[in-house]
Amino acid sequence: MRKVTSHHWIAGTIAGTDEVKGEMTERSRNETEEQELRQVSNFLALWRVCGNAGCRRAKTCRGRAQLCGRKNSKNVPPSVREFFVAFLAGKRCGISFEEFWEDMEFEPCTRDYFAWRNGHPTRSRDEPC
Ligand SMILES: [Zn+2]
Repeated sequence: MRKVTSHHWIAGTIAGTDEVKGEMTERSRNETEEQELRQVSNFLALWRVCGNAGCRRAKTCRGRAQLCGRKNSKNVPPSVREFFVAFLAGKRCGISFEEFWEDMEFEPCTRDYFAWRNGHPTRSRDEPC
């Protein structure tokens, strides 16, 4: 498996944004949400299952990340979603990427996530992670 660096620990995604929101205008808040969604959408490689051919070609959900995300997240394999939930939980607890990785490196859902990102099929059976 490819070595993952802390570069992939997306800074400021979802959990880290609450403190700044209070001072933002409605417009910039919407833009921030849009950016976060795009990060998440790219993180999960949602474009792989996007119904929009333009997104698949661009290898990212363009335009309305919100709409694409809502439609596409249900098509992501459950184990990939599980990895993402663990990722968010790790961020929320404030653990470092290194700690997270130590815990998750050999988990089946971690393997599935990277297989998914790299375009390989995931396990067909849905085993608990
Ligand atoms: Zn899309």
